[in-house]
Amino acid sequence: MVYKAEYIWIDGTEPTARLRSKTRVLDDGAELPIWGFDGSSTNQAPGSNSDCVLKPVFSCPDPIRKGGNKLVMCEVLLPDMTPHVTNARAQLTPIAERFADQDPWFGIEQEYTFFKDGRPYGFPIGGFPAPQGFYYCGVGADEVYGREVVEAHLDACLEAGLGISGINAEVMPGQWEFQVGPLSPLDVSDHLWVARWLLYRVAEDFGIAATLDPKPVEGDWNGAGAHTNFSTTAMRESYPPIIAACEALEKRASEHVECYGANIDLRLTGLHETAPWNEFSYGVSDRGASVRIPWQVEIDQKGYIEDRRPNANMDPYVVSRLITETVCSALA
Ligand code: ADP
Ligand code: MN
Ligand code: MN
Ligand code: MN
Repeated sequence: MVYKAEYIWIDGTEPTARLRSKTRVLDDGAELPIWGFDGSSTNQAPGSNSDCVLKPVFSCPDPIRKGGNKLVMCEVLLPDMTPHVTNARAQLTPIAERFADQDPWFGIEQEYTFFKDGRPYGFPIGGFPAPQGFYYCGVGADEVYGREVVEAHLDACLEAGLGISGINAEVMPGQWEFQVGPLSPLDVSDHLWVARWLLYRVAEDFGIAATLDPKPVEGDWNGAGAHTNFSTTAMRESYPPIIAACEALEKRASEHVECYGANIDLRLTGLHETAPWNEFSYGVSDRGASVRIPWQVEIDQKGYIEDRRPNANMDPYVVSRLITETVCSALA
C-alpha cells in the first residue's frame, strides 16, 4: 500500500512569500525523503540552474485526505544542502537552541480576511456594510460571514494535531482570527505555517480565498495583524523580567518593525487599536501600545507580554527569532 505526502514549502515571492505544495506518493512505512522542485517557478532560482531541495522538518496527519496521508512542512535548501536565502527557519534554529535554557514560549494570534468575488466576504456589491462595531465576536447572519469555513479549518487543525488554541470573529466583516500556542519558537512557527496552508486549502473547497493582507480595505476598517505573545521561564515567575523584556524590545524597535511584515506602515497608523509604526510604547491593558502587558499579568505579577506590532503577513520564523534573540539576550 501507499500513502500521499503533501510537501509544503515557503517560496521566494517578494515582498511577502507564499506557500507552495505538491504531492509525493510513498510506500507505507517509508521515511519522508528529501525531494526537489523547480525554483525558477517560485522566484528561488534562475532557469539555467533551477533545482532547489525540499528537506522535511515537520509532519502531521493530513486532515484533508485523511487515512494514513501526511502534511509535510519543508525547509528549502540549495543542491549543496546549505540553506536557501529564503529559508528563515534555518536562521531561527541556532537562536532557539542558544536560548532553549530560558524556555521561550510563543502564542500567535493570526488574523486574516476572507474574499469572494473580489471583495471581502460579507461586503455588498459596489458598497460597504454597516460600520464596524458589532462584528467582533458577533453571532448571526447579519454580523458573521464565513463561519462554516472557520469551523472546518479549526477541525482540520485539531485533526492534524496542531497547537491551535482558539478562534474568534474580528472587527471587520469577513475578518477572523485563530491562535496557535503557546509553543516553542520552532514549533509555533511550523504549526502556524501548516495552519495557514490548511486555511487556504479548506477555504478553497468553499470557493473562498483567505488573505493575510495587513490592510485589505482602506479607510475606517481594521487591518489584520499577528499579535505575538511571548514569555520565558523568568517572565512566567516574576514581574521585573516582564518590564525588562519591554525595555529590551524598545531598544531594538526599528529593527523589529522592519522585519514584521510588508506594508506595516499601512496598518500601524495609530488608529484602529494600533500604535504608530515609528514610535514605541508599552503599557498595561493598552491596546494602543506597541507592546501590551495583559491586566491579568499585572495582577498576578508574572506571565507574558503581547507584541501587537507584527502584521498578519509576517513570517513567524523571523518574528520569533528576533523576539527570542532580543529578549533572551537581555534577560540572560
Ligand atoms: P487577545 O486578548 O489579545 O485577543 P488571545 O486570547 O487572542 O488574546 O491570544 C492570547 C495568546 O497568548 C494565546 O495564543 C495564548 O496561547 C497565548 N499565551 C497565553 N499565555 C502565554 C504565555 N505565558 N506565553 C506566551 N503566550 C501565551
Ligand atoms: Mn486575539
Ligand atoms: Mn485580534
Ligand atoms: Mn491580541
